Amino acid sequence: MTHGKPRPLIAGNWKMNGLRADGVALAEAIRAGSEGLTAELLVCPPATLIALAADALGHGGVALGGQDCHPAPNGAHTGDVSAAMLADLGCRYVILGHSERRVDHGETDELVRSKAAAALAAGLVPIICLGETEAERDRGEALAVVSRQLAGSLPAGASGAGTVIAYEPVWAIGTGRTPSAADVEGVHGHLRAELARRFADAASFRLLYGGSVKPGNAREILALRDVDGALIGGASLKAADFLAIARACP
Ligand code: PEP
Repeated sequence: MTHGKPRPLIAGNWKMNGLRADGVALAEAIRAGSEGLTAELLVCPPATLIALAADALGHGGVALGGQDCHPAPNGAHTGDVSAAMLADLGCRYVILGHSERRVDHGETDELVRSKAAAALAAGLVPIICLGETEAERDRGEALAVVSRQLAGSLPAGASGAGTVIAYEPVWAIGTGRTPSAADVEGVHGHLRAELARRFADAASFRLLYGGSVKPGNAREILALRDVDGALIGGASLKAADFLAIARACP
């Protein structure tokens, strides 16, 4: 780790996967292999498994997070979960604005920003996801898209210590395809520069890369400039793969 670089974060997004026995077994296996890592480890189970995962993780070093929260603290919002409810279960983080939610649930930057503000108010660290589609990249719009999403999704109260940004090109999620190292460095450098225009502590924001990170490509990606960890979908469902990625952190 270079001097001044934030501690890397390796975050697992389990998405809508796992019944109780799977969740407990996965959390226990991750806990068992989590000793002595450079990186901070985080698991984000579906809401139904958060309490069980909290028990299985115990008070070890593995952090817990949600995959979404509602902007309101409570009320008549059937099917939703508030940031305070996640915090109450022991969550320290919440993923917000994942491309699957932006697509499946029509989430806008404005909504993501209000959810992030709610997360901060509840004492959670929001992990704000952004990234271009393949068509946007082909049109040469990747940097413009992530700039717009960053500006629109980040609440005023954000700070480097309390907010994480995840760059996840939509076309790389679950596809086995990844951008070139130069492209990842280019986008992350651009995001850092955009943060610096708005925040004095831009260097302490953790910028995660997400999209088909596997044990085989993690070392190269995690060593890139301005990459401070990874958000992992598919490979986070296998403890051995998730831990191998964490061990690849410089
Ligand atoms: C994700 O959905 O956040 C993700 C990065 O998925 P995968 O690792 O499966 O590409």
